[in-house]
Amino acid sequence: MRIAVVGTGYVGLVAGACFAESGNDVVCVDNNQAKVRLLRRGKVPIYEPGLEELVRRNRAEGRLTFTTTLAKAVRDSAVVFIAVGTPQGEDGSADLKHVLEVAREIARAMNGYKVIVDKSTVPVGTSEKIRAVLRRETTHPFSVVSNPEFLKQGAAIDDFMKPDRVVVGAEDPRAQALMLELYEPFTRTGSPIMVMDCASAELAKYAANAMLATRISFMNEVANVCELVGADVDQVRRAIGADKRIGTSFLFPGVGYGGSCFPKDVQAMRRFAADKEYDFRILDAVEQVNKLQKIKLVGMMRKHFGSLKGKTVAVWGLAFKPRTDDMREAPSIPLIEALLSAGVSVQAFDPEAVRIAKGIFGSRITYAANGYDAVKGADALAIVTEWNEFRRPDLGRIRSLMRSPVVFDGRNLFAPAHMKQNGFTYYSIGRS
Ligand code: NAD
Repeated sequence: MRIAVVGTGYVGLVAGACFAESGNDVVCVDNNQAKVRLLRRGKVPIYEPGLEELVRRNRAEGRLTFTTTLAKAVRDSAVVFIAVGTPQGEDGSADLKHVLEVAREIARAMNGYKVIVDKSTVPVGTSEKIRAVLRRETTHPFSVVSNPEFLKQGAAIDDFMKPDRVVVGAEDPRAQALMLELYEPFTRTGSPIMVMDCASAELAKYAANAMLATRISFMNEVANVCELVGADVDQVRRAIGADKRIGTSFLFPGVGYGGSCFPKDVQAMRRFAADKEYDFRILDAVEQVNKLQKIKLVGMMRKHFGSLKGKTVAVWGLAFKPRTDDMREAPSIPLIEALLSAGVSVQAFDPEAVRIAKGIFGSRITYAANGYDAVKGADALAIVTEWNEFRRPDLGRIRSLMRSPVVFDGRNLFAPAHMKQNGFTYYSIGRS
């Protein structure tokens, strides 16, 4: 099948490369010329495990190309995916300007029947807005499909290749058949393709992210109560996770959720519910809890040190989660900003996100070449992102490098008893 994917970010590039891998001819379109130039040289502008290799192979085999010219890509394709950003607008709602702009450009380029598939996360009613734009701008026939994406950054290729489910909002049989054919290679292992109306598909994406964010904030509150009553959140987590109705995933307490999806999707869902005069109270609490959790380590440090002025704090982890360089809404940002306002010098290390961090903090913090350099002369170490390489450090070396061996572990990477044995004063989330 000949496919165009508009937007070559975390979603569009992964989708494009995976569709090419399954034998389709894919042209990826982006209006960022620098990005397209890089991609044409086989370089991937983001860090996503396995992606560069997948892009390189499919490029070499001629199934994956890159362009800034949307019109030709549309003319040459039967299916056009929209995978551009839907950032948070000023009032919290999803900003649809990129999606609708792309819809307009697609319409103007059409030369026959096309299936236009929205993969961007968009509020209910957006597929109808896309249809309205197309009706206004073209006389060619078309179908609009809503196909929300559920991949996780850091495991995006695996998620796309072996999805738990594929959700397709498609109301006409021709588009439904085409989507079933396109996704067939990814659902051979038995994961379902769920065909539904567009409104349900659009809402399913927000409901999934809002539910996951709710679990995180819920567990963070459980952890906070654990600290107050002398319980251990790890034990509580194991006990509740064993209940099949609850399950084990997304029960890890920490320093809050970040990323380009949960924060904006929780806000957008509240917003479009509010537009229908529905107050989604739970999501308000989910957000408030998350905001406080992101700066929880600062409160713990204040309790330990008193004033933080003049202290040096090493920060391990800047990306919003491991295996990505993405720092959008990362907990490290409010944490470091709070430390800087308190007069702390910050020495940070992240395996992938330093380039992006430099754009955020500039020279206000220092960037270490590795975790050990970061802790040199530090009064405390704050662990913010659970990169695998932080899990088995040489604790003796760290202790000898630090000015005082105090660790504030926002991801519960170590056993408290083990840290104590190794001479650390150790604070973590929800464990005494
Ligand atoms: P991104 O910001 O990484 O990528 C968007 C891309 O679209 C950029 O490369 C940008 O240059 C390009 N673009 C913007 N306007 C354009 C235009 N007019 N023409 C051509 N290209 C244009 O975004 P992302 O993280 O890939 O997210 C895309 C959508 O998918 C969002 O709605 C997001 O909520 C959703 N989503 C993201 C994830 C994730 O993990 N990142 C997961 C599921 C769904």
